[in-house]
Amino acid sequence: MLSQRMKNLTPYVPGEQPQDRKYLKLNTNENPYPPSPKVDAKLKAVESERLRLYPDPEMNELRTAIAQRYGVEKGQVFVGNGSDEVLSFAFYAFFDENNGKLLFPAHTYSFYPVYCDFYGIGYEKVPLNDDFTVAVDRFDGKNSCGIIFPNPNAPTGIALPLSEVIALLDSAPSDRVVVVDEAYVDFGGESAVSLIDRYPNLLVIRTFSKSMSLAGIRLGFAMGSSKLIDALFMVKDSFNSYPVDTLTQEAGRAAIADREYYDGITEKIVADRDRIAAELVRIGWRVLPSSANFIFARKQGVAGEEIYRKLRERGILVRHFAKPGIADFVRITVGTGEQMDTLLAEIRKTF
Ligand SMILES: *Cc1c(COP(=O)(O)O)cnc(C)c1O
Repeated sequence: MLSQRMKNLTPYVPGEQPQDRKYLKLNTNENPYPPSPKVDAKLKAVESERLRLYPDPEMNELRTAIAQRYGVEKGQVFVGNGSDEVLSFAFYAFFDENNGKLLFPAHTYSFYPVYCDFYGIGYEKVPLNDDFTVAVDRFDGKNSCGIIFPNPNAPTGIALPLSEVIALLDSAPSDRVVVVDEAYVDFGGESAVSLIDRYPNLLVIRTFSKSMSLAGIRLGFAMGSSKLIDALFMVKDSFNSYPVDTLTQEAGRAAIADREYYDGITEKIVADRDRIAAELVRIGWRVLPSSANFIFARKQGVAGEEIYRKLRERGILVRHFAKPGIADFVRITVGTGEQMDTLLAEIRKTF
């Protein structure tokens, strides 16, 4: 009944979205603040008559808005149904085994090996440094079919300085694509967008899910040379001509235009992140330096799984990865100030 290729599928396991009881959800890096009020107004204003027609398959107005916001050309922007979809198109378009394996950090976004298996791309996990930073000098770009890494990295939260991103780009042959997944860059990373004219093999991927509070709408985008963007359109049009619906295109435009609102909520999240990180360190935890909207933390003598389980019993969801090297840690999404106070109170009582 099933095709042969189904045998190779190992799906990604997303963080829990429990429907049974109300948890304080600090496990999937969603934003605790609502989207811009302008998104709300826009969604209410779109006339349902417009939904009779297919959406714009080239997503022109949204791409123009994104291009203006980041100082690039519309032809350097691709938009997809969540950055996960944009990533999957990029894997299909740019990576194959002819030139060697795809390189990514040993501890990183766990969707990357899933796409590799899906498309039959060999990969190699490059060990992190002892301090959990990405080890740029261990990436042998010349013997690879490409490189991908998030910046800031997940689940560590540690950002790579732009100078090291440039070093990585300089080490890779100009015909191998380097993808920088900037899902968390708004919370403190340095973006590589300014480099796309200098490096036609650089693709920068962004999402509306984290800093723009729109995880439910599924919207992500890529910026890179028009050659890379054209290739992503070819993949899209071989798969689904209309992955981004009319409402989503409109909501995305409204969000991208309200920079002031989003700068405000990002500032709050960053302040609460630094506050709880400092407080956890004060009570004896180790917290990796985060430039994201989550922290990666451990308590000496307590297994990560136990932290996860005990917090869950108390109605707080965090993420635990049962993987050698990071199994002692939990990843905690930064919520509102009040939510962080609840978390800290439970942690003080429990561990
Ligand atoms: C959340 C996340 C994504 C996926 O974002 P969507 O746009 O919601 O699909 C991609 N990469 C990393 C590193 C992420 O953490």
